[in-house]
Amino acid sequence: MAAAVPEICGFSCCLVLLRSLRGNWKIHSQYGTPGPFLRWVINHATRSWITYTSMKYCSSCATEVARNIPKGDTRERWVCGNCGVVHYQNPKIVVGCIPERDGKILLCKRAIEPRRGFWTAPAGFMELGESIAEGAARETLEEACAKVEIGHLFASVDVVYAGQLHLFFKAKLLSDFAAGDESLDVKLFEVDDIPWNDLAFTSNRFALEKYIGDAGRDNGVHMCAIKKKRESDPI
Ligand SMILES: [Zn+2]
Repeated sequence: MAAAVPEICGFSCCLVLLRSLRGNWKIHSQYGTPGPFLRWVINHATRSWITYTSMKYCSSCATEVARNIPKGDTRERWVCGNCGVVHYQNPKIVVGCIPERDGKILLCKRAIEPRRGFWTAPAGFMELGESIAEGAARETLEEACAKVEIGHLFASVDVVYAGQLHLFFKAKLLSDFAAGDESLDVKLFEVDDIPWNDLAFTSNRFALEKYIGDAGRDNGVHMCAIKKKRESDPI
């Protein structure tokens, strides 16, 4: 009697193999380094569903790291073969706000990449030692030289493909404003004049749409998840 053959999904196996090859060039080097075409196939096939950041050396002992699944874990991580440190990578948090005064909304024109020249709500990466509300106020001070009174959190956007979580607060504009180092221009917009076609990020669009839809009411936190970037989308 023929031995039972486990049913294996060929597609899943291909993905596992591709992921393994992509993350472990060194480990698989005994089979020869893949040529340019194979590298393109592997990278292209895995690009949309792997969001880990590349890493070359261990920050603890400077030894080269490799992708492996640590004991007791279920995911590949960057692991140091010398000191054993597992370098966990988790989503980054972007905090921002929609500053408003007299029904007008403050937006910043970006002076830096990505999306230089496009408009954005004041927002940026959260720093260690601050709350998300403090981070949103700090970013507004840095990008728009403006002081704000942070209100309630009203929008949460999971930018899954980029490994980021974008959080937006309502805010009251308390001071004058000017372009900070990361802005080309800062301007108060009437709602009807918001430059929808020149917004820097998809999360900005979501937050502004919900903000305007709320019309000053607290409708809780609006949430959405952007799992895959379309070529036509801004970030
Ligand atoms: Zn190490």
